[in-house]
Amino acid sequence: MTAPTTPYTALGEALGTDFFSVREQFTEEQWRLFAGTRKFVDTEVLPGINDYWERAELPWHLFRRLPELGIVGEDIAGHGAAGMSPLALGLVHMELHRGDGSLGTFLGVHAGLAMKSIDMCGSDEQKQRWLPSMSTLERTGAFALTEPHHGSDSVALETTATRDGDGWVLHGTKRWIGNGTVADLVIVWARDTGSGDVLGFVVETPADGYTATVIPGKVSLRALWQADITLDGVRVPDENRLAHARSFADCAAVLATTRSTCAWMALGHATAGYDAALRYAKEREQFGRPLASFQIVQDRLVKMLADLTGMQLYCVQMARLAEGGTLSPTVAGLAKMHNTSTARSILSQARDLLGGNGILLEHHVARHWADIESIHTFEGTETVQTLIVGRDITGISAFT
Ligand SMILES: Cc1cc2nc3c(=O)[nH]c(=O)nc-3n(C[C@H](O)[C@H](O)[C@H](O)COP(=O)(O)OP(=O)(O)OC[C@H]3O[C@@H](n4cnc5c(N)ncnc54)[C@H](O)[C@@H]3O)c2cc1C
Repeated sequence: MTAPTTPYTALGEALGTDFFSVREQFTEEQWRLFAGTRKFVDTEVLPGINDYWERAELPWHLFRRLPELGIVGEDIAGHGAAGMSPLALGLVHMELHRGDGSLGTFLGVHAGLAMKSIDMCGSDEQKQRWLPSMSTLERTGAFALTEPHHGSDSVALETTATRDGDGWVLHGTKRWIGNGTVADLVIVWARDTGSGDVLGFVVETPADGYTATVIPGKVSLRALWQADITLDGVRVPDENRLAHARSFADCAAVLATTRSTCAWMALGHATAGYDAALRYAKEREQFGRPLASFQIVQDRLVKMLADLTGMQLYCVQMARLAEGGTLSPTVAGLAKMHNTSTARSILSQARDLLGGNGILLEHHVARHWADIESIHTFEGTETVQTLIVGRDITGISAFT
C-alpha cells in the first residue's frame, strides 16, 4: 500500500480486524448490510462528521440516508421496517458507531427504542398507524423514560398519567431524552395515578403543555441533541396509550433488546480507535523509526487487538443466542458491561498512542474517546449492568 501524501489522512478508514474469521459465516443479507453501511461510513460519514460534532449540529443529510440504506427498524417485520436478523442488526450498529456515535445513537433512539416500543407494546392498529412513517423517517421518534431524579432507578419514575374522559393527562419532567426537541412521536413512560402501574404513551408533537430544551455543554455525542422535557398537562387520547404496556416490566423488555445493541456500538467505537492507532503507529516516526517498530508499541497494539477480538466474539455469540431465541437480559447485560468498559480502555490506549494528535478531532480518535462515555452510561450504566449480573450469579440483589 502506498503511503498517503498528506500524513494520517486515512486514519478514520477501516482495517481488517477479523482474526477469528467471523465474516466467513455471514449470510448474503448480513454481508450486504455490513458492507453497505461500511461504505456509507467511509465515503459519506467520515469526511465531514468532525465539523458537525464540533459545532454540535445535527447531520440531517446523514440521518436521511438511513432509510435509503434499508437499515431503519431493527428486526421489526413489516411496516416498511428493516426486519434485520440479530447479526445484521448488530453489524449495522457496529459500523455506524465506527463512523460516529451521534449518528448511531440517533438510529438507536429512533428505531431501537421508539419504534421497538411501538412494535413490542402497541396494538396492530397502532403499529400500522405509526411504524410505516417512522421506517422512512418521515416521522422521528424519541423515548422518554429518564427523569431529573430517576436515572438508574427509573423504575421509581414520578411522571403521572391521569385518566380524564376519553384520554389521559400527563404531568412531569424528563431528562436526557435523545431527539426530544426534534421528534414527532415521543414515547413517554408515566405512572397511572389510579393503579400505580407504569404505562407508555405516544405524544405527538407539537402538543400543548409539551416543552423541550436542548441540554447544552455536552462533551460526548455532540452531533446529537438530548433534551430536558416538561409535560405540563399534556392531553393524550386513549388511542395513543400503548395497548400492551401494562407495567414497568414492558418498558424494561424494550430496554433489554437495546442492551445487546449497546455492546455492538461499543465494538464499533473500539474498532475505530484500534484502526487509527495501528495506522498511525506505522506512519509516525520517532527516534528515526516508525512507532510500530518499538516492542512496547507492538505489545500495546496486540493487547488492544486481543481485547477487540474478545468483544467481537461476545457480540457474534450474543447474536447467535438471539437468533435461537435464548438471549437473556442478563447475558446481554454482561456483554454491554464487558464491551463498554473494554472499549473505554482501547480508546484510552489509542488516544495516547497518537500523542498530541490524539486530542485533535481531525485524527478520528478523540471523538470516539469522548463518545464512548455516553454508551458506557446510557441504557443502564456499567455498574448497574454489573449489579444485574451479580444478582444473577449470587442470587442476592445488591440494589433493591
Ligand atoms: C448521552 C445520553 C443519552 C441518553 N438518552 C436517553 C434517552 O433517549 N431516553 C432516556 O430515557 N434516557 C436517556 N439517557 C439517560 C440514561 O439512561 C441515564 O443517564 C442512565 O440511566 C444513568 O442515570 P443517571 O445519569 O441519572 O445517573 P445515576 O443513576 O444518578 O448514576 C450515577 C452513578 O451512580 C451509579 N449508581 C447508581 N445506582 C447505583 C447502585 N445501586 N450501586 C452502585 N452505583 C450506583 C451509576 O452507575 C453511576 O456511576 C441518556 C443519557 C445520556 C448521557
